[in-house]
Amino acid sequence: MYREKLSLAGRNALVTGGGQGIGLAICEALAEAGAHVTIATRDPRDAEAGRQALAARNYAADGVVVDVTDAAAVTAIADRLAASDHPIDVLICNAGISRSQNPAESMSDDDWLDVVDINVNGTFWCCRAFGRHMLAAGRGSIVNVGSISGLIVNRPQGQSSYNASKAAVHHLTKCLAAEWAGRGVRVNAVAPTYINTPMTAFAKSNRAMYDTWMDATPMGRVGTVEEIASVVHFLASDAASLLTGSIVVADGGYTCW
Ligand code: NDP
Repeated sequence: MYREKLSLAGRNALVTGGGQGIGLAICEALAEAGAHVTIATRDPRDAEAGRQALAARNYAADGVVVDVTDAAAVTAIADRLAASDHPIDVLICNAGISRSQNPAESMSDDDWLDVVDINVNGTFWCCRAFGRHMLAAGRGSIVNVGSISGLIVNRPQGQSSYNASKAAVHHLTKCLAAEWAGRGVRVNAVAPTYINTPMTAFAKSNRAMYDTWMDATPMGRVGTVEEIASVVHFLASDAASLLTGSIVVADGGYTCW
């Protein structure tokens, strides 16, 4: 009974930014649980790379090209997939960027706007477009990828745009959860600590900063993409049927101190 609840057999999932990093691991986790996965990326080569990575493990996947900041394009894809053989009932809003080492007093307008546009607007456009179809079907599960940066202020690097954007993702998650809970659609978020992906590669050349991160983390290590994918899998599945509006913190204890 409990194992069945973790199965995603018969479900159709779409993962934004699914061609690399945390997104690709999420695609693998959902496919392993039985879902048909659509990998949504800005660059078709990333979707193809993700598709090949899944094919190597004998999982079939589709790819679609979309920039999450293009609300009309997001809506068009949601509408097209709703009428296809794979209507999306699991949406993972993973696409995101950071502009770290970027003190507020010298941040450019573009740096602020890019982060907010992709992380906040992009998440909303996707939730709205796919959420409409889930509401019409009376069921669906959305998982947004937030961050501990939406709960605390990272140090030592200045990254106010990112931190504010992820706080907005968390609160958006709660707003949509409350609006849609009575109509069969759950909306949750995962809030990861530092994860070993291209996004955090800049720390490799800054030992002092990396050591500060580790000193602030009870477990004394960064996370792996698989450790976030398994939380997303749980939240997407019926094993999390009572969870909506939850921000599940996966941080090696970072927010304890
Ligand atoms: P990556 O940089 O490896 O992956 C981010 C993905 O998002 C890329 O595939 C990127 O595609 C895609 N993306 C960016 N902008 C857009 C857009 N406008 N439309 C569509 N796709 C887009 O980062 P991570 O895997 O580390 O991050 C994944 C998520 O996890 C992000 O939301 C991030 O904020 C969050 N997170 C990451 C942490 C970490 O330490 N790594 C910690 C906490 C949260 P492209 O190559 O085209 O830019």
